[in-house]
Amino acid sequence: MIKLTIPSIDNEDMEAVLKVISSGQLVQGEKVNQFEHLIAEYVGTKYAVAVSNCTAALHLSLLSLDVEPGDLVLVTAYSYTATANVIELCRAIPIFIDILPDTFNIDPEKLKKTLISLMSSSKTAKRVKAIIPVHTFGYMANMPSILEIANEYNIPVIEDAACALGASIGNKKAGSWGKIGCFSFHPRKAITTGEGGMITTNDPLIAKKIRALRNHGQDPDSTQVEFIMPGFNYRLTDFQGALGVTQFSKLSRIIDVRRKLAKEYNSLFFGSEIITPLELPDFFHIYQSYVILIPRKSIDKRNLLIRKLRAENIETNIGTWNMPLTKYYREKYGYKKGDFGNTDLVFSLSLSLPLYEKLTHDQQLEIFENLFFLLNKSEL
Ligand SMILES: *Cc1c(COP(=O)(O)O)cnc(C)c1O
Repeated sequence: MIKLTIPSIDNEDMEAVLKVISSGQLVQGEKVNQFEHLIAEYVGTKYAVAVSNCTAALHLSLLSLDVEPGDLVLVTAYSYTATANVIELCRAIPIFIDILPDTFNIDPEKLKKTLISLMSSSKTAKRVKAIIPVHTFGYMANMPSILEIANEYNIPVIEDAACALGASIGNKKAGSWGKIGCFSFHPRKAITTGEGGMITTNDPLIAKKIRALRNHGQDPDSTQVEFIMPGFNYRLTDFQGALGVTQFSKLSRIIDVRRKLAKEYNSLFFGSEIITPLELPDFFHIYQSYVILIPRKSIDKRNLLIRKLRAENIETNIGTWNMPLTKYYREKYGYKKGDFGNTDLVFSLSLSLPLYEKLTHDQQLEIFENLFFLLNKSEL
């Protein structure tokens, strides 16, 4: 089976984890601290705060901005459901924004229209608390345009950079553009700690609040144990921190290989009806996933294609989710097909192909040939 993804774990990673486990110091400690410093320096923010996963990171980000029941948070329509779920978990309301079909990222023009309309009524204006763009599949959303709109109304931006550690626009990295950046170290992302997440920010008060919220509300600056708010246990273990440190040392190598493999796919698909990922000048894609769009004439066949490729021992998947049309949001808010046309289209046409460090050229050829054969076969 050619797997969709295989994490790059080697002996160095295992030894680092074993060392912490044998020490008996298992919960958040020195290694987590070290991991945080490495990420803050790399992303280019003053602070990085490790948490148990990116969903926790997004949740605490909203809480740190005082998002309250009934508030409104603007969010891209095309993402993993965690991105919208955290808004619901604060009892706030997600205002979905459609994507651009070529980058799979939030459409700044549509964002602007919606924000202007919400801010023009005093009833909604005071409830708009945040904007969450996602750097889909490791390719950054258009942050300059998003920030221009957001800054006009002073609305903080939380980057869902779960898939985008190392991605950048110019020389400014994902997670350093908005008020807050959120990262994931789930095994599907470029580097992993099993489960794991990180929050980046330049704001000392936000960093402090998040440090308290992840640790039962304990004051992070006090030498005495002081509980200053009700908090969660959203901590990372120290053996995960150790894994984060060794994984991080391989990040640029992993990104290089992923980009080479992506280029290889691009040249295999060149001249075909398949649409390959866009990478504009100045935008540095880290290819957390390599996602193509199959031809429109095959729009009803995508899931069958995934099954048939699996029968050929090739694991592929959908890109990510059309969040407004998942059962919960569809039923709660009455969304229907056509409300977010580009998200509908991309959701139906997208196909994520195997991509990991050890993927070989022969395997890429095999994937390409099987995909082509199936797409051109009449029964598909
Ligand atoms: C993976 C992912 C998440 C969730 O991350 P976890 O660490 O699994 O909680 C959130 N948003 C996006 C865009 C993701 O890809």
